[in-house]
Amino acid sequence: MIKIIEKKTILECENFYFNGSINKKLTRELLRDLNARFSNSDPDEILDWGFSFFGKKMVVGTGFGPSGILLLHRLVTKNIPATVFYLDTNILFEETYKLKDEIEELFGIEIVPVSTALSLDQQAREYGKELWKTNPDKCCEIRKVIPLKNYLADKKAWVTGIRRNQAATRHVTDIIEWDPVNYVVKINPLALWSNERVWDYIETHNLPYNPLHDFGYPTIGCVPCTNPVAAGEEERSGRWKNAKKIECGIHLPAQNFKNGTDQ
Ligand code: SF4
Repeated sequence: MIKIIEKKTILECENFYFNGSINKKLTRELLRDLNARFSNSDPDEILDWGFSFFGKKMVVGTGFGPSGILLLHRLVTKNIPATVFYLDTNILFEETYKLKDEIEELFGIEIVPVSTALSLDQQAREYGKELWKTNPDKCCEIRKVIPLKNYLADKKAWVTGIRRNQAATRHVTDIIEWDPVNYVVKINPLALWSNERVWDYIETHNLPYNPLHDFGYPTIGCVPCTNPVAAGEEERSGRWKNAKKIECGIHLPAQNFKNGTDQ
């Protein structure tokens, strides 16, 4: 049985108050001001702002893509002691787990796994074999969306490495957003960065990356749902290749709120 920890029932960012020196509601207007302020900022300034406001209630999520590694490098370079986590579906590539170990050692940090309590065997018994084929939305909900919601239940802000040009579903991503499902501020310091700029950073700083990127995998998720893409295809077109799905569901809510459809 999957347990969902509900933090709030009212999903309105106007009810969310900033802590710290500025005691005001996070409104759509304030979101617009923050995004204007940070439109030319480097990630350090945005991470600094987030940690000064939210302290240890700000956590950093990574899927071990190049954007995430860049952000972790900025965090450790700037000595920002935010907790880093990843969604461990228990079905990630071996290369991804090795990269996690390598980054932990290189950066001297611990990256917290966030998982469902439901093992893959239990999932197969309860929902049928290979749920990722029969109902990938349900599988992502069990293994990613609900664990994330539970993990963020006592947090205030969540940093991600998502960028606008990763997929059509991300074209309206802002640097600072409200996530009305997880009830946290979502901070995307690289929202306006290009893929090329991120890779330049990785190469310039000689940072490790997932070797699968060299074999046609621009983004890498769970083993059954990740395929290589052809030249010229969108970055995320290799995900859920045989389903009409390019997002697992954890990055949709903020955009819905911005468009005025909070649910
Ligand atoms: S990406 Fe695939 S295997 Fe991973 S949680 Fe989603 S449907 Fe399941």
